[in-house]
Parts: sequence; structure tokens; C-alpha cells
Amino acid sequence: MKIHNFSAGPSILPKTVFEQAAQGVLNLDGSGLSVLEISHRSKEFIAIHAKAKDLAKELLQVPDTHQILFLSGGASTQFFMSALNCLPQDGNAAYVDTGAWSAKAIKEAKRYGQLDVVASSKESGYDSIPKGFEVSADAAYLHLTSNNTIFGTQFRTFPAVSNPLICDMSSDILSRPVDVSKFGMIYAGAQKNMGPAGVTLVIVREDILGKVDRDIPSMLDYRVHIKNDSMFNTPPVFPIYVSMLTMEWIKANGGLEAAEKRNEEKAAALYAEIDRNPLFTGVAVVEDRSLMNVTFLLKDTGLEEGFLNLCKAAGCQGVKGHRSVGGFRASIYNAMPLEGVQALIAVMQQLEKQNG
Ligand code: PMP
Repeated sequence: MKIHNFSAGPSILPKTVFEQAAQGVLNLDGSGLSVLEISHRSKEFIAIHAKAKDLAKELLQVPDTHQILFLSGGASTQFFMSALNCLPQDGNAAYVDTGAWSAKAIKEAKRYGQLDVVASSKESGYDSIPKGFEVSADAAYLHLTSNNTIFGTQFRTFPAVSNPLICDMSSDILSRPVDVSKFGMIYAGAQKNMGPAGVTLVIVREDILGKVDRDIPSMLDYRVHIKNDSMFNTPPVFPIYVSMLTMEWIKANGGLEAAEKRNEEKAAALYAEIDRNPLFTGVAVVEDRSLMNVTFLLKDTGLEEGFLNLCKAAGCQGVKGHRSVGGFRASIYNAMPLEGVQALIAVMQQLEKQNG
């Protein structure tokens, strides 16, 4: 049976990428060696790393003002590393709280200075994206989470502020074009749209660095990683390799404009069913609905188990909602084909027939 994997992360990647990655583990480009056993300083890996960087630069049109890094430690390390490097002891930074991941970023950054939470959708169960908030001109940066993996909301446009924007794009990186020139820093754990868990993409505008006085450990200093081209220590070679293959796939499939079009089409189909089917209701307010993580509830929670059983029988896996939201969440990242979404829609219609 065909399995449709709706997991929130680690998550679906293109089948061709799995095949190429498997081949690379056995015999990398005919070298007779596995990608897992070569030195990170070998010419083979240097070429993989350079290609990954070039592809990220090309797909996201990263301007020359920004550096591209592949780091370890997950997006969770970036929660404090960004503050450690960019929040002066006697300064302040602005944060928008749009969900559990923003709240974690706030908690970690607080260790390093004054934070001003300029807007939050917590009161309404994180069902929306705050708009029209003010950011003080002296804030060192404004931190946002572009897509809320758990609650299923997404910034469709970004606030126009004069402060550098620092954005956690873990769950929507490479799913749509973004104007990188508008950001001081973008960071993203790879394990949704970009590759396997274990590598974090960081895109940083160099001029936002070097403005704090504190002593930063080398491994947590972006300038050290920039100077060493992400090779200050042994980088996560396999996740970088698979990310490079995934970015090749994105490029071969029309780049980020085409990815966005496919993602919009998939999300529109699924939200249309949630809105049409009398058994279901959406979690997020319509205008802030995520194109990546579609969250929805059964009006009659008594039907939940039956729905999950039907999902299982149809090969739709990973649909159970996050424990803090309940209900269901279908993560429909780049590699999820429209057919996967249609399979889930068919299950929703099957449930309606049984209980209509
Ligand atoms: N930010 C967002 C938006 C996420 O979805 C996640 C993980 N799901 C994280 C941060 C944490 O990432 P990591 O597990 O790579 O630290």
C-alpha cells in the first residue's frame, strides 16, 4: 500500500532524493567510498558543501551581503545563539509570540538581555498572526517565527520595520520565495522541506554581527563559522549532502515559485474540504492559514478514533494533531504530492458518508 506521510518533521522528502542518498551511502559518485566515510575536507565533500551553498544562494536569491552557513544543534540552538550574537547586554530586542516555538525562542533569548514581546496571539490559542504592532526603533532586532508548525498559522507577508528581522523559518524554508534582503538573519532546521534532521541553515547579514561585547564561545559565534566556511568543526556531512540533493530536486522542479504554486494548490484543496465537510472545522483563522501545516478538528470528538482508523487503512500517516492542539494536523511540505492530499480528502469524505 502507498503510504502518504503527513508527519510534521522529520518528514517526507522526495523519493528520488532517498534513492540518491542511499546510493551515496554505498558508493558516492563512483568513488568507491561512502559519503559517510570521507573526510569533510576531501575534495568530494568540499564540492558537495559548495553545491549546497550555491543552491541555497540561487534558490533563495541570497544577496552578497548575506552569508550562508550549515550548522548543527537544530533551530533550538539558534534560539539562544541569535540572541548571544545580536542582543547587546544593555540593549533590547522585540519578539512576536505566535506559538510554542516563538515562546521557546523568547525563553532562551531572555538570558541575554531585555526582550519586548510586542505582540502575541496566545490569548486566542495561537490561532492567528498578530498584525499592526509597533516596534521600538532602538530594538536590536525583531524576531519572528514565519510558520507555526504546531498551530498551523503562517506570516503571508512580513512586517515592514526598520529593525533587522531575525526569522525562524524552520517549517517553511524553501516552500516559497522570500526577499532575503529584508532579513538580518534567517535560520531553519532542515528536517521539514530541506533535508534530514541534523543540519540548520543560517543566512545572516554580516553587518548585524560584532555589535555585542560579550565573550562568545567559538562554536556559538557566527563570525567564527563564517571565517571557516561552516568547517570550524566537523559539519553534519550527511544532512548537508541530503539537503544538497533536495535543493537540486527543488531546482529541477522549477525553483521556489513553482514550489509555492504547488503548495498553494495542495493547501487550497485541503482547506476547501475542511470548510465544505460538515464534520470538520479549521483551527487557524482563514487569512493566516499555513500552507505547510494544516490543522483541523472534528466537531464531534467521538469520531476521532474512527477517522484515524480510516486514515491508517488508506495509508495516511502522521495525521494526529499535536497534543497541545488536539484534532489533526496534515503537514504538506514540498515533497508531498497532490495525490497524497487527495487521498486524505477521500478519507474525510468517507467519514462523512459513514456519519452524514
Ligand atoms: N522552530 C520551528 C518553527 C519548528 O517547527 C521546530 C521543530 N519542529 C523548531 C524550531 C525546533 O527545531 P529543532 O528541533 O531543529 O531544534
